[in-house]
Formats: sequence, structure tokens, C-alpha cells
Amino acid sequence: MRLILLGTPGAGKGEQATRLSKKFGIPHISTGELLRGEMDEGTPVGCRISGFVNKGELVSDDITQAILEVRLQEADCFPGFILDGFPRNLNQAEFLKKALRRMDTRVDVVLNIEVSDSTVVERLTNRNRKDDSPETIRHRLKIYRNVTAPLVDYYDTAGILKRINGDSSLEKVTKRILSSLGQTI
Ligand code: ADP
Repeated sequence: MRLILLGTPGAGKGEQATRLSKKFGIPHISTGELLRGEMDEGTPVGCRISGFVNKGELVSDDITQAILEVRLQEADCFPGFILDGFPRNLNQAEFLKKALRRMDTRVDVVLNIEVSDSTVVERLTNRNRKDDSPETIRHRLKIYRNVTAPLVDYYDTAGILKRINGDSSLEKVTKRILSSLGQTI
């Protein structure tokens, strides 16, 4: 099963991806985590991207795509994967389609986790990440609306989008996801 999770920062993508990863025994791939890993290890890539990540700017497509493609080719992704934070713009979505085609596969389902603004602010201010200052949060939400949200229509047109109401407890949202997947898988 190859899944993409879409949703604003704070929509709960990471939490839901972790749960689905356990349930289905397929890896949770978060490009945010992969990028933070490069920064923590102080790799040359990590040094180049830290300014962008800490300000809430997107990292360049070239860097993110290269890191993602390497990860997707690891053996544990063969039975499937859950993407969280990628793609984040239309260019990345086109890249993903081509990269998967080269691997003779494609995305099965895209889940859009929809939450109200008040839920987003509450969840992000309760988190303790370095790029979760109010100013950076506002910036990331703006980028989401302008650059990432068009992916909802893109995948809807492709016929693989499912909308999930994310304004409840994590357990309830997981149940909604599983029942929506039950109709497909
Ligand atoms: P959130 O969903 O809360 O914004 P993420 O961990 O997904 O958190 O992303 C954190 C940061 O990592 C982003 O603000 C951005 O700087 C960078 N990032 C993650 N994924 C991508 C991507 N696909 N393209 C470009 N930058 C990315």
C-alpha cells in the first residue's frame, strides 16, 4: 500500500502516519524528519538547509527529491510506504509520479486530513520543535495554503483523494482513516 498524507502543519499527519505504519507494517517516511536528521548530523546538506527549515521555508526541490528517492529505493519500501510531508508542491508531485513509474509502481491513496484553524494553532503551540515559533508557524501555514494546498485538487482529479475529518482525538481520526481505506483495500 502506497499512501500520501496531506494536511496543514499541525493536522496530525505525523501521528497518524506512525499509527498506520505500525498497523500495516510499512515505513513512515517524513521528509521533515529526514531533513532534520541531516541537520542533526551536521552533513554538508544539513548545513545548507538549516536556515530554510528553521525559518519555515521550503528546502529546494532538488535536495528534497534526491533524499526522498534514495529512501524510496530501500528494501523496506518494497511492500509499501506512507509519505508525510512529501510532495509539498506540484513539481514534487510530478517528480514522485515519475520516480515511482521508474520503479514500476504508483501511489494508491492520498489522505487529506482536514482540520480547523483553531485545532492547528492549539496543536502546534503544544509541540516543542525549534521551528514552531508563532512567526514560523504563520509562515509555514501560508506556504501550505499557497503552494501545497493545490495538491488536493491535483490528486482529486487523479481520482485517488480521500478527505478525512481531522478535528477529533487521534484515535477517532485513525478509525476514520481505516474505515475509509477499508473501502479501497
Ligand atoms: P510540518 O508539516 O509541521 O511543517 P515537517 O516536519 O513536515 O513539519 O516539515 C518541517 C520543515 O521541513 C518544513 O517547514 C520545510 O522547511 C522542510 N520540508 C519538509 N518536507 C519538505 C519538502 N517536501 N519540500 C521542501 N521542504 C520540506
